[in-house]
Amino acid sequence: MPATRSRLYLEMPVQFLKGVGERRAQLLDRLNIHTAGDLLYHVPHRYDDASTITPIASVEIGQDATVIGRVISKGVLPTRRGLRIFQAVLRDESGMIEAAWPGQPFLDRAIQKNDVLLASGPCRFFHGRQLQPREWVNLGAEDPGNAAGRVLAVYPATEGLTVRQLRAIIEQHLDDLVALVEEPLPDEIRARAGVPGIQEALRLVHRPPSVSDADRGRARLAFDELFFVQVLHRRANATARTPRTGIAFEVKRTLTSHLKASLPWPLTGAQTRSIREIFADMCSARRMHRLLQGDVGSGKTVVALFAALLALENGYQAALMAPTELLAEQHARTLADLLAPLGLVPVLVTASQGTAERRSADARLSSGEPLIAVGTHALIQERTVFGRLGLALVDEQHRFGVEHRAALGEKGDRPDMLLMSATPIPRSLALTLYGDLDVSVLDERPPGRRPVTTVLRRASAHDQVMRFVDREVAKGRQGYIVYPIIEASDKLALKAATTMYEELSSGVLKDRRLALLHGRVGAEERDAIMRAFRDGTIDVLVATTVIEVGIDVPNATVMVIEHPERFGLSQLHQLRGRVGRGAEESFCILVGGGGPDSAARLRIFADTEDGFEIARADLRLRGMGDLFGEKQSGLPAFRVADPIRDEDLNVLAREAATALMERDPDLRAPEHRVLRKVLGQRYARAMELFRVG
Ligand code: ADP
Ligand code: MG
Repeated sequence: MPATRSRLYLEMPVQFLKGVGERRAQLLDRLNIHTAGDLLYHVPHRYDDASTITPIASVEIGQDATVIGRVISKGVLPTRRGLRIFQAVLRDESGMIEAAWPGQPFLDRAIQKNDVLLASGPCRFFHGRQLQPREWVNLGAEDPGNAAGRVLAVYPATEGLTVRQLRAIIEQHLDDLVALVEEPLPDEIRARAGVPGIQEALRLVHRPPSVSDADRGRARLAFDELFFVQVLHRRANATARTPRTGIAFEVKRTLTSHLKASLPWPLTGAQTRSIREIFADMCSARRMHRLLQGDVGSGKTVVALFAALLALENGYQAALMAPTELLAEQHARTLADLLAPLGLVPVLVTASQGTAERRSADARLSSGEPLIAVGTHALIQERTVFGRLGLALVDEQHRFGVEHRAALGEKGDRPDMLLMSATPIPRSLALTLYGDLDVSVLDERPPGRRPVTTVLRRASAHDQVMRFVDREVAKGRQGYIVYPIIEASDKLALKAATTMYEELSSGVLKDRRLALLHGRVGAEERDAIMRAFRDGTIDVLVATTVIEVGIDVPNATVMVIEHPERFGLSQLHQLRGRVGRGAEESFCILVGGGGPDSAARLRIFADTEDGFEIARADLRLRGMGDLFGEKQSGLPAFRVADPIRDEDLNVLAREAATALMERDPDLRAPEHRVLRKVLGQRYARAMELFRVG
């Protein structure tokens, strides 16, 4: 074998690392590990050490335990079904326990009598207590007393690639890879923040002498992420401050006042405030880049409509872009109702509308006459030309790529931009994420909405829950049943939408009109199904999460979610937002729910309907990745940092970024060479993010 060491580099595809290969590279891909360097940033999510270790004598059946013990006997046992089991008896000063690894007879070679093992996993009943280690390390012939001082790093793993295998891969290459990492932080910044050097930090994280050392290492990596993002923002802001001239609208009160007077209900305080903020922004000569955030049902549409009318009363056009045809149609209908007293009708623009209708829409858009266009991606097609676009509105903006948002903005001469999002995130975080966007928040709900009754049910109550759905349908209501995946596989004993659709159609819900909806259903059929559901010719939608964000079917009163532990809390919140839209009491029923950890998580969800609180909990518990798909949003994902938990570090990072930008805004100084390089490499895509319009 040729020496690979000399050719090792951080951007090397991970596949070429010794011990990885093509198959494992595919598995690593799922963990977002693509290059050798990514391995370094695959950070343990947990550490086991003496403080988490249970004396063997006190391990109880049904418990998940971590123990350290010496192997006092071992062997391979055949079972009747041909499965071979490796077994070892472990002893510490408190007692003994049997440990068993079904199907892993080869461990007989890796584990010797007198070895000390650190093992964790569930304790089951099998002729007494039996530990079935999920994770373990062989600490060799150490004194178990010393071993208690060892720390076991536990990595996020994936099906087909165990924590142990991952740990072995990382361990094998750690020293060589770490040696390649250049220090991006100038000494001064590093000293001020009190964080270790990058090489030391990486070693501490993967091979910590103690858990507090691991924390020190983690803090450094987190600091980097927060600091880098801060630097990017400052640069983005600097760019944004350079001329961003736009249209200076004037409040003429011809249309806007008329709308206000004709609304069927008074605006909420939050709506009034947001409209004021938006108007102030639109009336300034600076181009508006604003994000309107509001929980599902907080009433964003009417706020957007006020903004649109301000554009219209100044002789401009406004365009509202939605991610799906159905949502666009729904908006067109809602706006048509609200605009009827003003004698205005929005113009619908979608890909599936008839040729004649589309031609007439195109003609009106290009004529420049003041109007509100409502549509899908069709609005940004080349053939769509606006004569005088003054305001671009993007609904469910996180469902669009940066390019799409920008494309709509380019349909006019620097029109003002208002992006809307129902994924509520804390304001400070929004600013961190969206750079030069200003933010308006609808943190208040229109009155009169009934809360959705949310309950957690055990998996064993499944049939009972379905009978409840059946009874709701009997009362004339409709419902959703949501599953995390499409097709059942043997490996994942999850109920899949397709399987359950068949089971329910011939079982508990056989008298009901069911439809199946998932990501592999084509867009046209999907729209047809959603329309049928909206029109009441389908009673129950059995679906994956494709069910439309933002869709409004007030007659739907039940949302059943199976395997809720598989969803992020914010995602659950979006799903729950599909019900509770009418006058009847609505229910969100979570069936099953995994272990105690996720039960606690789900209880947070069940106990509040405040989307901001839920988003905060989600961030705290699962990190950024779940709140936004990175691919979709283009957001720089934090791998290590948690902007909420790491608030103190974030403050340090902000200060450091400010100081740096004052001294060397373009990062031209030689001591900033590595930093500039790292930013360019890591955040190439994120740089794009700051281009809004
Ligand atoms: P979202 O923020 O989720 O887009 P919508 O704009 O669709 O919310 O509004 C949700 C519902 O609340 C709609 O049926 C809308 O007519 C209603 N609504 C909006 N504002 C008010 C208000 N101030 N008072 C009462 N109902 C309102
Ligand atoms: Mg909406």
